[in-house]
Amino acid sequence: MAKITKLDDIVSLCKRRGFIFQSSEIYGGLASCYDYGPLGVELKNNVKKAWWKSIVQMRDDVVGLDCSILMHPMVWKSSGHADKFADLIAECKKCNTRTRVDHLQDKPQKDSIPPSPDEVTELTRELASSPAAQHTEHVSIDAAMAKAHDLSGKLCPNCGADGKFTEPMPFKLMFETQMGANVDDSKTMHLRPETAQGIFANFRNVLDTTRVKLPFGITQIGKSFRNEVTTKAFIFRTREFEQAELEFFCEPGTDEHWYEHWKDARFNWYTELGLKKENLRFRDHDPDELAHYAKACVDVEYRFPLGSGDWQELEGIANRTDFDLRQHQRGIRTLNKWFENNRDLTGIELSDEAEDYLSGPLSYFDDEKKQRYIPYVIEPSAGIDRSALAFLVDAYDEEEVRGETRNLLRFVPALAPVKVAIFPLVKKEGMPEVAKNIYNDLKKYFNCFYDEKGAIGRRYRRQDEAGTPFCLTVDGQTLEDTTVTVRDRDSMDQVRVSTDQLLNHLREKLDL
Ligand code: ATP
Repeated sequence: MAKITKLDDIVSLCKRRGFIFQSSEIYGGLASCYDYGPLGVELKNNVKKAWWKSIVQMRDDVVGLDCSILMHPMVWKSSGHADKFADLIAECKKCNTRTRVDHLQDKPQKDSIPPSPDEVTELTRELASSPAAQHTEHVSIDAAMAKAHDLSGKLCPNCGADGKFTEPMPFKLMFETQMGANVDDSKTMHLRPETAQGIFANFRNVLDTTRVKLPFGITQIGKSFRNEVTTKAFIFRTREFEQAELEFFCEPGTDEHWYEHWKDARFNWYTELGLKKENLRFRDHDPDELAHYAKACVDVEYRFPLGSGDWQELEGIANRTDFDLRQHQRGIRTLNKWFENNRDLTGIELSDEAEDYLSGPLSYFDDEKKQRYIPYVIEPSAGIDRSALAFLVDAYDEEEVRGETRNLLRFVPALAPVKVAIFPLVKKEGMPEVAKNIYNDLKKYFNCFYDEKGAIGRRYRRQDEAGTPFCLTVDGQTLEDTTVTVRDRDSMDQVRVSTDQLLNHLREKLDL
């Protein structure tokens, strides 16, 4: 029976095999920041390639962009992030830890007897890994502040103290930085908290420079930054992360059809890349969870091995109506106010919509209907790091082979960091030369790895752990009949393949 994967197994394999390291480790590490090592960067690039292939390359109705991380401050005013992208937090008066108010949990009812230190440790561990502590829905500060919060029966997830909290306060999630060398014209800017706004801001540019016609989408992959209150769980929730987002624009009235289309397409993408169906599900947002402008929203959730095995968001898919384009039309109308206010966002309100907003600068002219309107948008928004973690978790396996534990990553070929490893059985009798020649030929087509050090069994195990689908070994027989053994990672079966058939054989098996 397959073993239940724990996050610790993944963290330790990632470190041991150079997938993912703690950032700045030589200085003691920087919390919640991670670096992708030699195997990790290949995995992550493969996840991004797989997104691009399915969303751009294989479709005729989506184009790509790569926007800058720093954007005009008015972008964040129009999108609502400048005013609303915050969490409501309270600080524990005992240990000074800040926790999101919506993550605080009630103390257990049976608590008339004070918990023992061991029980506190266990309780706080459970609280920290509970779905509530992991799940983030960023709230509108105004709405959250308007609500009364009684924290007297709540427990601190860090030290277990009950009811000892400061008044709730907003905590802004966007990172600030300064732009410009001169004091006079230096401006406060924000690192983007999502990639989507770059797409909306370029909607007109794409319309004017390409032949796209509705329905069509624009996608980009890139870094986003959020000063999250709670991080934890390895690369699941970090402050710097990569997103892949698609804004699919369509005629109002066709939005429900496209919403269903993208739900199917995105679910299938994960399963085609190896995630087991039983570990993946949709979770519809409840009506009170939906943003006021969204018509529908669903999370694609994966059963991550966090805490007791929780379902967690991998990707959100939303019907955002025409909200974003209309907001940016209001933003364009507000620009003068911003200049007049000394280019300061605080204290300015977005201008009202023009009466003829349907034919505004971000509207679309429908040639067939001879009509202008603001398109609706369906937004699949995925996390590249979070997907990479899900692919690692799902691919991880341990099995007993002749009394020894074999760790392996059963990646589908498209995601495997290395596709083929090439070994000479021994480092003599001309085997390394033949193996090197094969390696030099094959690396033109796939990511290959050459290794001649150590016992052959150890070399196989190392590649199993890296998720390499095939290992080729040059042995004594190769020198006689020019065949090599091709070992399959999953079954460990070996077949002999003639060197002149190798490329075709591997292409077929790898489906690349
Ligand atoms: P969550 O509820 O998990 O915080 P969210 O609903 O705020 O996510 P979105 O704004 O919808 O997330 O972002 C889209 C995707 O980006 C998420 O589904 C997730 O995969 C990824 N993502 C968001 N925040 C983070 C983060 N702090 N670290 C890693 N990935 C993230």
